[in-house]
Amino acid sequence: MFRDREGATLVDSGYGKFNDVTFAQVNAVLEKWGNSSLDRIINTHIHSDHIGGNADLQRAHPGCSIAVPVDEQPALVNWDAPEQMLSYADQECERFAWDDVIEPGQQMQLGGESWHAIATPGHDMGSLVFHSPKLRVLISADALWESGYGFVPPQAIDPKPLAAQRATFNRLAELDVALVIPGHGPMFTDYAGALSRASAKLEAFAADDMKIAKSVVKGMFIYSMMWRGEMALADVPAYVARIGVHRDYNAQFFRMSDEAYADWLVAEAIRAGRVRVDGASLRSA
Ligand SMILES: [Zn+2]
Repeated sequence: MFRDREGATLVDSGYGKFNDVTFAQVNAVLEKWGNSSLDRIINTHIHSDHIGGNADLQRAHPGCSIAVPVDEQPALVNWDAPEQMLSYADQECERFAWDDVIEPGQQMQLGGESWHAIATPGHDMGSLVFHSPKLRVLISADALWESGYGFVPPQAIDPKPLAAQRATFNRLAELDVALVIPGHGPMFTDYAGALSRASAKLEAFAADDMKIAKSVVKGMFIYSMMWRGEMALADVPAYVARIGVHRDYNAQFFRMSDEAYADWLVAEAIRAGRVRVDGASLRSA
């Protein structure tokens, strides 16, 4: 969050199922600042875990404006297309109206400093990151994490995101950055190391579409289990037949029966330590 004369700004608003946590954190900061209201939300991209608090926060803070990357507008108009990975990936998000757009190259004032919006297509083709050359800080969203980046789809589905993500890493490498505030995980300082780890991961994925496909469906299932908390084991085959990303990826890449795919997916999520079996239920670990 940032504080300016014009008011308080939040960059990205989390996943809607965790809005109570988001509200508690936002309110704690506002209280500390002696501000009564949140005045602006800026979104880096439009995945559900970055925009999920928008509608609720705007209701709680009337007059709070929402700004989205300009290239995300068609997807927001065409809400819940498969590429948004919303219902297609068993995620939920309340739709919202935006008041403003941010263009690549645009400069913004945040916390009294000048920040540049930089286009980082790949994980999300309309995504932006924000860089302060003076502070040498990068708000990297899902374009770069300490050990990786937000998924890109297999090239057999669409080759453009992976190529775009590669170009994004090259663009990011030109920036002078001492501190990164990523979309997931704690802040970190080893920018060059993170870029080299992320690039190595991308090239390993570029050479192996199956590796990408496995990583996407595992990641989506673990995320759904995290917000659902629990699922009856007996329901998993019907679940993977119903949810688009599992149905389609299984048909295109894995070619298993719903039951075999469900068994494999559950085993992978258990192996990753992210779910556990509890009697007839699968629970988030
Ligand atoms: Zn994302």
